[in-house]
Amino acid sequence: KKLNVALVGLGRYANYMAEGIAVSKYCKVNGIVTGTPSKIPVWRKKYNIPEKNVYNYETFDQIADNKDIDVVYVILPNGMHKEYVIRAARAGKHVIVEKPMAISAAECEEMIEGCHKAGVQLAVGYRLHFEPYNQHMMKLGQEKVYGEVRYIEAGLGYNSTNIDPSDWHLNPELSGGGCLQNLGVYCVQGARYVTGLEPVAITARFGEKLYPDVFKEVEESIHWSMEFANGTIASCVASSSFQIDRLFASAENNFFELSPAISYGPFQGRTRSDEFDFPQTNQQQVQMDEMAKYLLNKKTLPDHICGLEGLKDLRVIDAVYEAARSGKRVAV
Ligand code: NAD
Repeated sequence: KKLNVALVGLGRYANYMAEGIAVSKYCKVNGIVTGTPSKIPVWRKKYNIPEKNVYNYETFDQIADNKDIDVVYVILPNGMHKEYVIRAARAGKHVIVEKPMAISAAECEEMIEGCHKAGVQLAVGYRLHFEPYNQHMMKLGQEKVYGEVRYIEAGLGYNSTNIDPSDWHLNPELSGGGCLQNLGVYCVQGARYVTGLEPVAITARFGEKLYPDVFKEVEESIHWSMEFANGTIASCVASSSFQIDRLFASAENNFFELSPAISYGPFQGRTRSDEFDFPQTNQQQVQMDEMAKYLLNKKTLPDHICGLEGLKDLRVIDAVYEAARSGKRVAV
């Protein structure tokens, strides 16, 4: 049996995800939830989706009666994640939600509680947990292959200064913020999965706006430090006006780094003396096949891909915003 997935929101990333699922071993796109009727015939034809498995945002809750959907994958603007995750859980479906899990840690807690009460599992679409170059960074750091990691640099930025002014990323109610929510969450993840530790304190500052007419209500760039209890520091940056895609770790006896580290690849990485050479994978396919192994076999998802992992990141993001706004060092 394949895991039957219904996608909620058929925007840019849903297209990538559906293409990954289409070539997966254990999953099928078997349902869609959309507010745009013109997308329905295109998606139905491309993925062979029965008419009865098509919903809009009003009819969505009727998915509870549909035995041909096992899991709902929420790929909506961040500010809508909470509502749709909780509605999916109440409909008795397992849920996968895109990053960032929500726009605050408080929302993540409600989502975890909602899924727990409904007896369904909740996963966050952290594709890099299944990606070989990032997995190697986790191993080198957490297993202290080159000794204790003392210092990390993590950055993700794209120049999106030509963004459509009506794009939800520019609307804090829908996005929860700017590049920190959208891109910085990967830097928080990187620092956490290389060290295997949770940060204890944050200092931060917003970058100066070079495009104030574009980024009116959200940050254009942000710099922050994560302090860990063992003294390790992660220095991070996210930006919507310059290019960076990097995860660097300095350990006692070597450094190791990826760049590109986070985008869809191809990834490249090295230590001081060696280049990494791992397969470049279809990240969406691998993520879904790995998640399906748990969901199809009724096994509990491991901590690093479930809602708790998303909550831990949002706790850090909440603290980064608080530190940037107040200018103070903020405990996580
Ligand atoms: P998008 O704008 O391309 O798609 C959003 C979809 O939501 C559209 O189909 C839109 O019609 C629908 N929608 C419903 N109500 C809406 C509303 N009120 N306002 C705006 N759109 C509404 O966005 P996207 O880039 O696909 O991002 C969706 C989610 O996926 C976000 O949470 C984002 O962070 C995440 N994402 C993850 C990755 C990844 O690599 N894992 C990559 C890109 C995006």
